[in-house]
Amino acid sequence: MADLILRDATVFDGTGGKPFGADLAIEHDRISQVSERGGSGSTAVREIDLAGAAVAPGFIDVHTHDDFAVVLYPDAAFKVEQGVTTVVVGNCGMGAAPWPTASLFSRAFHPASGIPEWDGYAGYLAHLDAHAPSVNVAALVGHGTARGEVMHLDDRAPTDAEMHAMRAVVEEGLDAGAFGLSSGLVYEPGCFAATDELVDLARPVRDRGGIYTSHIRDESAGLLGAITEAIAVGERAGVRVQVSHHKSAGRENWGRVNESLALLDSARARGVDVGTDAYPYTAGSTILGALVQHGAFGAPGDSAVSKAPTS
Ligand SMILES: [Zn+2]
Repeated sequence: MADLILRDATVFDGTGGKPFGADLAIEHDRISQVSERGGSGSTAVREIDLAGAAVAPGFIDVHTHDDFAVVLYPDAAFKVEQGVTTVVVGNCGMGAAPWPTASLFSRAFHPASGIPEWDGYAGYLAHLDAHAPSVNVAALVGHGTARGEVMHLDDRAPTDAEMHAMRAVVEEGLDAGAFGLSSGLVYEPGCFAATDELVDLARPVRDRGGIYTSHIRDESAGLLGAITEAIAVGERAGVRVQVSHHKSAGRENWGRVNESLALLDSARARGVDVGTDAYPYTAGSTILGALVQHGAFGAPGDSAVSKAPTS
């Protein structure tokens, strides 16, 4: 006997094919049988009539900042209730480690809640394993978090020693199970990084078959140059690229995506593995720190990543 039968569902199976009516039997948390609508004669401990409702594989939310939310609210109702079963975290250069800098980001996202301390991405992922949230979590290493930890808010190129330290953060994360590196080049401190720095840090990502994702340097008047830079990182480091939340913001820039998508098409035509994601709506959101920079928010210590991080 099945544990659960979902009767009379309309199934979107994720292959892109036409939806079809079916009964689904579930045993031990797995779909054990898909039969024609009304065709499942078997019985179950529990049955749910899904007439008029759809069944689909869980959604993968490829662009989230749920790094700390899944720690603080492991039931993840805010995602599960939307049908999301996997979240990609660590986007836009903001990762879950190293902890001192990551905890400052956490305070910016969740001012009222403190996160437990963990050691590196290995510690973060071990924490998730031990306190499994109800969504799967795929983590990216944040370039901004790595740079903030090593160089604080310094607007300059890294020394060799600093480059080495940032590379160590990236490698620790990848070895722990992160599947790539993200950058946030409108935010401090990511905006202080030159393309060469990103290429250098993306090399360990290539060596491990990971992906480089970027909140690119400019999503308005400078969109095309910023897309070109993301492609260049992919080409020079030999790494796959994901342009995050692709858009052309600002009324005077509307329509420029026709040109940016053409740039992506031509990069793909010459063999660069580059893709994009986009919001499923016409609004965007970010933090004030994307506009108010260079310490204008107040003394060091007040901003999300400070020159003198305090825990
Ligand atoms: Zn972003």
